[in-house]
Amino acid sequence: IKDLVPEVASIIKDSNYLMAFTGAGVSVESGIPPFRGPNGLWNKYDPEVLNLDYFLENPEECWFYISEIFYDFFSDARPNKAHLVLAHLEKDGLLKSLVTQNIDNLHQQAGSLNVHEFHGNSKRLKCLKCGKFFYSNEFDFNKIPPRCDDDGEILKPDFIFFGEGIPRDAYENSFADAEKADVCIIVGSTGEVTPASFVPRTAKQNGAVIIEINPEETLFTEPVTDIHLKGTASDVLARLELELL
Ligand code: NAD
Repeated sequence: IKDLVPEVASIIKDSNYLMAFTGAGVSVESGIPPFRGPNGLWNKYDPEVLNLDYFLENPEECWFYISEIFYDFFSDARPNKAHLVLAHLEKDGLLKSLVTQNIDNLHQQAGSLNVHEFHGNSKRLKCLKCGKFFYSNEFDFNKIPPRCDDDGEILKPDFIFFGEGIPRDAYENSFADAEKADVCIIVGSTGEVTPASFVPRTAKQNGAVIIEINPEETLFTEPVTDIHLKGTASDVLARLELELL
């Protein structure tokens, strides 16, 4: 990738509307494993706990695993260099928008502002009856399931479960940006999750240059990516930062 970094840096400098699209890979170096692959979460847990119908029927059991995965495990994670560089690029006016499939809040913790949370955010909980929002740090997850203080109803993490639709604002803003973008950087995503994977595909169809950062090849690499920077998110973005800022 050594020779490609200066080329990508000049594409970014010349861009009018640069967007980023991130997946679980951007948070791997913060200690959060992806869902798929050899160390993936689905090798250890049954994805059924995130099935909406199963959750509604078995909230105690689901919350037992959800609290272990998303509130024990995720809670110690801190933004890594990749999150910080993306926030820095936005602050410097180079990055206009960031669409993330992640629900870990690490882009926001790193300082990114214009973030479209395509799959929601685990730091928020929502009452299934009245729609009131709560923050996960208000709860003691030794006492599950967490309940609404107004009506006693069970709370659901405000990220999407299997069987749920994409939050409307995130969906519309992500695709609007994909139509506007002239450069899109994909970081750490297999491209297997739809409709999220249509976001960079839409950018491509509208003429954007697609740059992919991933140590592996993905479903994007062959048909969508123009330049593949093969490496980890923090390493490649740190090198790009040196060229850019
Ligand atoms: P994925 O789990 O399907 O794939 C992860 C990708 O990251 C792979 O292509 C892998 O090669 C790549 N990768 C691994 N280490 C990397 C590194 N250090 N730097 C760059 N890339 C690296 O991820 P996905 O396509 O994003 O889909 C999984 C879905 O699960 C997402 O929609 C997301 O909502 C959810 N998820 C979120 C988190 C999180 O919030 N951090 C974690 C796991 C899963």
